[in-house]
Amino acid sequence: MKIPFIDKRLEDIYSKVLNGSRLSKKDGICIYKTHDLIGLGQIANHVRKSLHGNKAFYIYNMHLNYTNVCKNRCSFCAYAKDDGEKGAYVWSIEDIEKKLLERIDEPVKELHIVGGLNEDLSFEYFINLLKTVKKIRPNATIKAFTCVEIDYLSNLAKLSIKETIQKLKDAGLEMMPGGGAEVLNSRIHEALFPKKIGHKRWLEIVKAVHKAGIKTNATMLYGHIETTEERVDHLISLRDLQDETHGFSAFIPLAFHSKNTQMSHIPSTTAIDDLKNVAAARLMLDNFDHIKAYWVMIGEKLAQVALSFGADDLDGTIIEEKITHTAGATSATGLTKDQMEEMIIAAGFTPVERDSFYNPIK
Ligand code: SF4
Repeated sequence: MKIPFIDKRLEDIYSKVLNGSRLSKKDGICIYKTHDLIGLGQIANHVRKSLHGNKAFYIYNMHLNYTNVCKNRCSFCAYAKDDGEKGAYVWSIEDIEKKLLERIDEPVKELHIVGGLNEDLSFEYFINLLKTVKKIRPNATIKAFTCVEIDYLSNLAKLSIKETIQKLKDAGLEMMPGGGAEVLNSRIHEALFPKKIGHKRWLEIVKAVHKAGIKTNATMLYGHIETTEERVDHLISLRDLQDETHGFSAFIPLAFHSKNTQMSHIPSTTAIDDLKNVAAARLMLDNFDHIKAYWVMIGEKLAQVALSFGADDLDGTIIEEKITHTAGATSATGLTKDQMEEMIIAAGFTPVERDSFYNPIK
């Protein structure tokens, strides 16, 4: 297909894509810098269509955020509270049971479980949490814990990362959501989340998780202090690791929401930047099968558009999203299966309900 590019630099990138050549750092920077958004979208859509045709995936899932008490207090995080602070909470195993039973009639296929680093919780709590969820929802996949939580749990249990992962796996852990790295870069780590693990440790842990046979997603939190070059380096680091482990399932660009954070002066990301991040991910991450348009962060309407800019997955119905809404997200806190399907059909794609591993639900 011939694309009438306004920015002629995109012609080279398109040729590379058509020849199956890997894009360079310079190409990645060009993708972010170009003003030819439609030309860029067409290249990304070409790749997306060649991988998935007209299909657009979604999952019937549910989020469980077991506590918002966190000792790290990263400056970009609106969700975390100190113990005893107004609004701080921790769910007991009984609370989790109750939450699950309240929605037991719904066809939930995945439980997405993450929380803060709460020093009042023992390692046993996490084992019980996984076992309880599996007992109540035996047919749903447990996708839980970032690498930050895995590092914390290994210290808590005084076990190696490998042993910690094995214990969690034995209790029911089947997949991991992939957050926690934010941007794989020491400067950003020092500036925004110095108490959290740095990028080398994140890569080390995710590698161990993949080695243990657990698939993860990968994310990038963009729209704060990161430079274009740092975004591209992040994507290349993930691509390099994927060459080695093949353990990443999907990539999810996460648009920063600053409300109620220590960085509330930073404005929201623009629609242009959101779409560029989806397209950049689709083009740079040539060894990732799936790119998600996370509707919670970019809004339902832009997520529909993103399906034509490289994304093939709208993530899930969610049910009670808390983290991004604490930071000012204006999207819904959950969508029904019908709403997900209507969004996809209206965008010109065929909805495919999937499980956590992209198997279609019959
Ligand atoms: S981002 Fe995670 S580790 Fe950082 S303060 Fe928030 S909950 Fe804690």
